[in-house]
Amino acid sequence: MQERLQKLISQAGITSRRAAEELIVNGRVTVNGVVVTELGSKADPATDRVAVDGKPLQFSAKHLYILLNKPTGYITALKDSQDRPLVTDLLHGVEERVYPVGRLDYNTEGLLLLTNDGDWANRLMHPRHEVEKEYHVRVRGKVLEQQLKRLAGGVELEDGVTAPATVRMVKSSDQNDWISVTIHEGRNRQVRRMCEVVSLSVVRLRRVRYGSLEIGALKPGQFRYLTDAEVRGLL
Ligand code: URA
Repeated sequence: MQERLQKLISQAGITSRRAAEELIVNGRVTVNGVVVTELGSKADPATDRVAVDGKPLQFSAKHLYILLNKPTGYITALKDSQDRPLVTDLLHGVEERVYPVGRLDYNTEGLLLLTNDGDWANRLMHPRHEVEKEYHVRVRGKVLEQQLKRLAGGVELEDGVTAPATVRMVKSSDQNDWISVTIHEGRNRQVRRMCEVVSLSVVRLRRVRYGSLEIGALKPGQFRYLTDAEVRGLL
């Protein structure tokens, strides 16, 4: 993303924005080897080489790690063709651009991580790490022992058999049962599709845990920053 040169120079920790403006006006800044003296000029830290007095800038953006309790009715994307609300609309006061780690469906609630640390996000999502995701699923009517067993053993979906899951009963009432399903794969609409195969109708789907992180007391729409230990502890 293109940014004003003075902002980039100050973000690189060289000097304040004000002093950076002087560097630019005084012809000490180059972009891809060309001297730039216009104050409104922009550059993209990902693709342009910005140098001060011939020394290239090192950009180290501040990494943010956010845990959001996603409410239903929000899209886990940065844009929506139907103009539906985006999860990033909920991040009041977060000035950096952050991206969701994986996806939750429009009607799924619960724990969603967002970050601007692409390496961390990619590592978390890589199947090799098998990070556990636990969902609480409210299903219409009663769940049979046999349905739980089938979910746990792996069920046949169009994109192949699911890996074994940890499945247990959470709560039972006259109308609806709640079950817990823990998976480490992250296929599209996986839990909903698994339930469909064993003839369970999903009424609510809520992610309560991602690896060692739990949703805790956050209300829908609330978020918090992860601690350093939590960020390191996930992988
Ligand atoms: N499984 C689903 O079916 N939906 C989600 O949003 C997450 C997991």
